[in-house]
Amino acid sequence: MTTLGHSLMGLAALTICLPPGITWRGLLPWAILFIALASLPDWPLPQWGHQRLVVSHSLWTNLMLCTLLTATLWRFGPKSGGSRRILICGALSWLSHLLLDTLYGDLPGVAIYWPFSDRLATLPLPWLKSLSHPPPPFDGAVIQILVLEAITFTPFLLAALWVRRRWPPTGRIG
Ligand SMILES: [Zn+2]
Repeated sequence: MTTLGHSLMGLAALTICLPPGITWRGLLPWAILFIALASLPDWPLPQWGHQRLVVSHSLWTNLMLCTLLTATLWRFGPKSGGSRRILICGALSWLSHLLLDTLYGDLPGVAIYWPFSDRLATLPLPWLKSLSHPPPPFDGAVIQILVLEAITFTPFLLAALWVRRRWPPTGRIG
């Protein structure tokens, strides 16, 4: 999978939770954070094994780390409603990565049950394909993959914008 789908899902989660009154300049660090969280299982960390989609893509590993981080920030971080809503949406953004990775039919699947089972989870959408090589070059195959991914995941961002307009988030950060 490319980072495009993950990024769009991260931005959708951010759109729902970010308190009103944030300037474009203030939005940028939040957008970077949520995109990074949505791609966290793919981070090239030592011993993280992101290329094998095992440790890095285990539901248990990610759930444990995500819960630990969220609980720590919940306990010791800012306690306003806006901050806590951001915390929850950030965790959901992180965990959405595993579901999205199962949608790619040309991958063998994601070992979300590791270490309890080696079964691979796969919920393939026939039009979603992974990149055979990281761009550049942006050849025809890469562009087609990116366009189909954008068509698939942009509606989630649009839906989040609709939700934000319909039920504007309240509160503040801090
Ligand atoms: Zn991944």
